[in-house]
Amino acid sequence: MKSTMQTTPLLISSLLRFGTTAHADSEVVTWTEDGGRRTTYREVGAQSAQLANALRGLGITGDQRVGTFMWNNAEHLVTYLAVPSMGAVLHAINIRLFPEQLVYVARHGGAQVIIVDSSLAEPFSRVLQALPDVRHVIVNGPVPQEVRAALEAPDHVEQVHDWSELLADQPTTFDWPQDIDENDASSMCYTSGTTGNPKGVVYSHRSNYLHATGVSATLGFSEADRLLIVVPLFHANAWGYPYAAMITGSTLIMPDRFLQPAPLAQMIEQEKITGGAGVPTIWNGLLQHLDAEKPDVSSCRMLMVGGAAAPPSLMKAFHDRYGIDIVHGWGMTETSPVGSLALPPTRVEPGSDEYWRFKASQGRLLCGVDGRLIGPDGSEQPWDGESVGELEVRGPWITSSYYANGSESEDEIAEMAAKFDDGWLRTGDVGSLTEDAFLVLTDRAKDVIKSGGEWISSVDLENQIMSHPDVVEASVVGVPDEKWDERPLATVVLKEGSGVTCSDLRKHLEDKVARWQLPEHWALIDEVPKTSVGKFDKKVLRQRYADGELE
Ligand code: ADP
Repeated sequence: MKSTMQTTPLLISSLLRFGTTAHADSEVVTWTEDGGRRTTYREVGAQSAQLANALRGLGITGDQRVGTFMWNNAEHLVTYLAVPSMGAVLHAINIRLFPEQLVYVARHGGAQVIIVDSSLAEPFSRVLQALPDVRHVIVNGPVPQEVRAALEAPDHVEQVHDWSELLADQPTTFDWPQDIDENDASSMCYTSGTTGNPKGVVYSHRSNYLHATGVSATLGFSEADRLLIVVPLFHANAWGYPYAAMITGSTLIMPDRFLQPAPLAQMIEQEKITGGAGVPTIWNGLLQHLDAEKPDVSSCRMLMVGGAAAPPSLMKAFHDRYGIDIVHGWGMTETSPVGSLALPPTRVEPGSDEYWRFKASQGRLLCGVDGRLIGPDGSEQPWDGESVGELEVRGPWITSSYYANGSESEDEIAEMAAKFDDGWLRTGDVGSLTEDAFLVLTDRAKDVIKSGGEWISSVDLENQIMSHPDVVEASVVGVPDEKWDERPLATVVLKEGSGVTCSDLRKHLEDKVARWQLPEHWALIDEVPKTSVGKFDKKVLRQRYADGELE
């Protein structure tokens, strides 16, 4: 029996239309040197129409790609909404990639128009020659004459435009097409490529729509919320926040290039932030600043953390010292990205040991995300909170393949195909699931330390080391060992002026982890190297050890 329901497609343009009408007075604040420029959702809607008209004028039709090379700001949000709504495909490019990888992803995505922030125009101009598909460059903000000339130099660039001038005369309405298939592409993101070339994931209107609904419903955002979006719009779909905000009408605070702890604290204080999203290293940096400067952050009720395991010591510090609830989430570029969120069940006493175990877990799978655990022997493991396996997921916002444009080698095609298992995505993450769908990850399969046939979780060791009050950051990797195959190397950043030694740290671990797991290699370092999205870069640490730089 068929339903009697209408089959209106789930389109980004519906989110745009709803957000900018129903929540027309909600604000977007973009941080600047002198404290922030403000715009409303109404204005975002009008600018989205102007941008879409301008892009049509530049010849963007069908599913052609429009790229961004931008910080988080109001114009980037406008682009996030306008490009998919007009039927084109948004490719938010990671501005922190090395030039070689940047060229790879930008060429692979194939954008014909790129929108670039003025503060990023100079580095972008250095790779533009290598991007032959790019016909137009739109610069957001004024740039010096020599930078403009460098952008104009490549033969394939027809014209360089100024954002404000290009949009100024365009109509503030656009007839958003309704004949788009909800399963068609709306945007794309690349994994950060910790091994090999980055892989492209193409989101659909439907996947983004459903993901935004799932994220906003689970986190319970409302129009009263004022959200600080530290996670870059180019990192895994900005965790769904731009689209979720259209549903809830929450005010968005966009930090632009001011991502250091001091301006972030100022934004929280001045803009009365209620919630935010960022990777652990961002909130860890903020915590050090709060402890030193004690700004007023009492408006903030929660900060979402994801992208890497958040140390329980970090969550407890925010909770105990500032009354801020850190909400841990797990996800991947391939999963739109939010797959789970750690909101402890109400039966659990807040502040109890059990409560903190739930908070430290990767959280409950969202409704719509189906998970299974595959053990080392290939068999499916029960959801009993103990049995461990590789997590596989499927659902309406989980990718079913990677984007291939015909330029891939046979090896790459085989490598991409190997990430899927009979309709499920192999996450490469190892852990357990409780009966009520809470995910506890032990480690990434490739970061687990294989010592004498046993596995040591690098994340467990890091969490225990970071529970020492003098430790700012700790990252643990497996290094080759003749007898045991691999043994843990702990690299630690101490608070300034701390006199703690490696043997003190080892002692600190003695009653917390099994003896055989205690690292025998230790190194005090100034900073843990980070990936382009701010995660601990374990590849670099392993290399430094191999080069003899670390003991
Ligand atoms: P990349 O794989 O290039 O780092 P992603 O940002 O897509 O790009 O990373 C996804 C991976 O990040 C996950 O597979 C997982 O290993 C890790 N991750 C994300 N969130 C968490 C979390 N809360 N706890 C532990 N690991 C996490």
